[in-house]
Amino acid sequence: MTASFYREKTHRARKKHLCAACEKIIEPGEFYLRVAGIWEDGFGSFSYHPDCREWENHLNGFCHPEEWMPLHDLVSDSSGDALDGAPDRVKGRFKRRLGEQESAALREGGEHG
Ligand SMILES: [Zn+2]
Repeated sequence: MTASFYREKTHRARKKHLCAACEKIIEPGEFYLRVAGIWEDGFGSFSYHPDCREWENHLNGFCHPEEWMPLHDLVSDSSGDALDGAPDRVKGRFKRRLGEQESAALREGGEHG
């Protein structure tokens, strides 16, 4: 990541935020990581579940050192392999989305059986 200004800080959420890694809600009262920086396209700031951010850092360090990929993109590209070895709480956030898709598919297919 090339940023001329970069700062990250942990806050306790006072309102809902969207995690930039898993695209799930960070609830008020939860701790979250606020990342601010000046990137190639200007100033931007993002909120993260701290453990999502850690896992995203981990994956990008190994797989994409030259091009940053958000965690949810890595997970959808790899159809879940990107979560191998991830903390359970991070896996759980993605499972919830899979669960919804699966239950929708079940509902659609249910009338044939
Ligand atoms: Zn998250």
